[in-house]
Amino acid sequence: MIKGDHKGRPYILIIIEETLPGDGRPNRKRLYMPTAFAHTVSAIAITKVAGLKLPTVTWSVYLIAIICAVIPDADVLAFKFGISYHDILGHRGWTHSIGFSVLIGLFFAFLFYRKRSLRNRLGLALLFAICALSHPILDAMTSGGLGVALYWPFSEERIFFDHRPILVSPIGIKRFFSAWGWKVMQSEFYYVWIPSIVVFLGANFFELSKSTDKERV
Ligand SMILES: [Zn+2]
Repeated sequence: MIKGDHKGRPYILIIIEETLPGDGRPNRKRLYMPTAFAHTVSAIAITKVAGLKLPTVTWSVYLIAIICAVIPDADVLAFKFGISYHDILGHRGWTHSIGFSVLIGLFFAFLFYRKRSLRNRLGLALLFAICALSHPILDAMTSGGLGVALYWPFSEERIFFDHRPILVSPIGIKRFFSAWGWKVMQSEFYYVWIPSIVVFLGANFFELSKSTDKERV
């Protein structure tokens, strides 16, 4: 583990040694990610906004939206299968892309909402895709790790945004409850929680003013 500094803020790299296939040279994997809380909060805010346009946004829609926002990090399992971080099947690879977001959005909308109209299912697919896409967008704003393969399947290039204010999160519960974990929560609070809460409350305000308008009519 390496402690470092990024724009005056501390971070820690977790480095795992692996052996490269072929010549057997050692390779180092570095693991970073924002916390699942950040992805959950942004999915809730996005779903609240979608509810202004989409009819019947039930609790199950919120649940699946959250799953879509968190599921891209299931790709850390790739490490268990010896897949390198840099591989398109590795962490922050194809699951952190526009292509994957569209696929997962369509998958959940058409699997779980078969009884709804086609228009409604397409609306849900779009919502779930946006929630899934919010994940690599947040990852691309983190202070470390490898970039995300945002443009897969058209490009396997790993990208970051120019503005990267979100501190990367430690991997593992033990490390999470540390001084570093607390710093991560603070950075996510400013850059994810506050904007999400503002968006959620704004959508709630519109919703309430729409329903009072209807009551007046
Ligand atoms: Zn991720």
